[in-house]
Amino acid sequence: MGLMRLLPRSQERPQTSRGTQLARVIAFANQKGGVAKTTSTLNLAVALREQGLRVLVVDLDPQGNLTMSQGLNPDSIERSMFDVLVHRLPISEVIHEREVDLAVSSIDLAGAELALSSQIGRERALEKSLNAVKADYDYVLIDTPPSLGLLTINALVASEGVIVPVQCEYLSLRGLVQLENTLSMIRENLNPHVKIMGILPTMFDGRTLHSKEAVEILTENFGPLVFNTRIRKTVRYAEAPVKGSSVLKYDPRGPAADAYRDLAKEVLNGAQARKHA
Ligand code: ADP
Ligand code: MG
Repeated sequence: MGLMRLLPRSQERPQTSRGTQLARVIAFANQKGGVAKTTSTLNLAVALREQGLRVLVVDLDPQGNLTMSQGLNPDSIERSMFDVLVHRLPISEVIHEREVDLAVSSIDLAGAELALSSQIGRERALEKSLNAVKADYDYVLIDTPPSLGLLTINALVASEGVIVPVQCEYLSLRGLVQLENTLSMIRENLNPHVKIMGILPTMFDGRTLHSKEAVEILTENFGPLVFNTRIRKTVRYAEAPVKGSSVLKYDPRGPAADAYRDLAKEVLNGAQARKHA
C-alpha cells in the first residue's frame, strides 16, 4: 500500500531565520487505548533528555494520564491545554517543569473538541500554539487520546512524525489502516509533511508464540517502518507512574528503562540506521 510514501524523511530540520534549529515534533497515535502511547511518550522523552536534549511533552488526552504520571493531578489543574487550544492562552503558561517540560491536560480538555469545532482553523490550534516554543526545544512529543477526533487531528497537523505503539497481544492491523487513512487525509488537506516515523511493538512477551507472531505480521506488512526496539511486557511500566516518575527514574538500571534508551537511539539515528541494523 504505497509504503515508500510512509518512510521517514531525511534528518534535515527546519530552521528559524536566525539559523537556530526548531524542535522536531512527534505525535504518538493509535486510536486503540492501552497500547502504551502515554508510557512511550514519557519514557522516550526522558531518554532523549538523558542525551542532553531539550524536550517538551504535551498531554492532549482529557484523561490526563501523562500529567498524572509526572505526579500532577489533572483534576486540580486550573489552566491546561484546553485554554491553549480553545482560548489561545500561550502554551508557556501551562508548561510545568518535571523530568521533562510538560504541557498539562485537565478534565476540561474533554470539552475541547466541541468548543473547537465551530472555530475557523480548528485543526491548527495546536500547531499555532507550538510555534511560539519550537525554538526552545529539540523535541516536542505529543500524547493523544484513544480516538481519531479533533484533538488527535490537531496533533497530526502539528507533527512531522508519528510513532504508532502497537500492543503485540491484540494486534489490530485494521486499526492501523484506519490511522493511515486519517494520515492520508491530513497529508492531502492540512499537513503534507506528516509521516509515520515508526511502529513500536509494545508489551512484547518473548516467551509466547503469539507475541512473536504479532511482530512477524507487523514486519511483513510494514517492513522497515517497524522499530527494532521491542518494548517488553513488565510491571515496571505500571509501577513507575504511581510514583509520579518515568521508568528511567524509577528503575534506571533496569531493562525497562534501557528499552526506551534503545528507542531514543533509533529515533536519533533515523530510518537509515534501522535498515542496516
Ligand atoms: P495508552 O496511553 O495507549 O492508553 P498506556 O501507556 O496508558 O496506554 O498503557 C496502558 C497500561 O499498560 C498502563 O497501565 C501502563 O502502565 C501499562 N503498560 C504500558 N507499557 C507496558 C509494558 N511494556 N508492559 C506492561 N505494561 C505496560
Ligand atoms: Mg494514554
